[in-house]
Amino acid sequence: MVKNTLKIIFHLYLCLKEKLMNYEDVIKNIYGELKSYWGKGKVADYIPALAEVNPRQYGIAIETLEGQSFQVGDAEIRFSAQSISKVFTLAMVTRHLGDEIWKYVGREPSGNPFNSLVQLEYEHGIPRNPFINAGALVVTDRLMSLYDRPKDAILDFVRKISGNDDIYYDKHIARSEREHADRNMALGYFMKSFGNIEHDVEAVIDVYCHQCAISMSCVDLSRAFLFLVNHGKNPFHQEQVLTTSQSKRLGALMLTCGFYDESGDFAFRAGLPGKSGVGGGVVAYIPGNLAITVWSPELNCHGNSLIGMETLERFTTDIGNSIF
Ligand code: GLU
Repeated sequence: MVKNTLKIIFHLYLCLKEKLMNYEDVIKNIYGELKSYWGKGKVADYIPALAEVNPRQYGIAIETLEGQSFQVGDAEIRFSAQSISKVFTLAMVTRHLGDEIWKYVGREPSGNPFNSLVQLEYEHGIPRNPFINAGALVVTDRLMSLYDRPKDAILDFVRKISGNDDIYYDKHIARSEREHADRNMALGYFMKSFGNIEHDVEAVIDVYCHQCAISMSCVDLSRAFLFLVNHGKNPFHQEQVLTTSQSKRLGALMLTCGFYDESGDFAFRAGLPGKSGVGGGVVAYIPGNLAITVWSPELNCHGNSLIGMETLERFTTDIGNSIF
């Protein structure tokens, strides 16, 4: 009896210790070491406005469910969320459509670059997963059927889940991507020919370019992911954004498909569900515990932040915790 009670107390102590861990020193150390990696990657330039960003920036922000915040470097500078926004639109659509969304898009890793066209033909216009561009376009198309003003709805959603009303689209980046969207247009028209896009392709691309151009800091993004850390419930106003099961599914998709053809490697290295964007942001989370965002604009050859990937591998290694 006494032995069991002691065991329970020790277990609770370990849980509390993990939850209230001071991550300050951990991220400061990583930041100090990895700053020397500047210059090893390359800023995305296929969207000209993204190439204007100063490559030598690096920030880390952690938000925990217990309400702790830890930051280092450029954690409060806003940058272009790009593909990280695909998690937001998928959550919005899943909320309304539930499992029906899987009629339009698959849920298997693609093993291909984010903007690849190759699988679409032999898979009859059904994209492999919602995080490659083709899949995200299908999700945006569905979202446009659900909301009269989809661009406003996306902003409202992101402001709500991050608890920050001061989040906007970067119009300059949205315009620049819109003017250089030939490949995404091709994906859109190709899927439309299979009947998997309902709206006018130009209109879908316009909403998509805006969602990618949401401007957020590492702190904003970590806060925005807390509802997933909390199994679907927004910790700021206790609203159930997704069911526990839907939240589990989103996390599983991030783990298997969140980093394009580097998804397996990210799972192997960091052991966390996460999502990257070509703006250089990477968000990942430990369910029930914390969300962490790293931003550094220089990308590796897979289109993921070079320093971001390295930071997250070191983070889970240093704290001895991941989802495994
Ligand atoms: N807006 C980007 C595109 O469509 C998103 C890609 C990404 O962040 O991976 O090319």
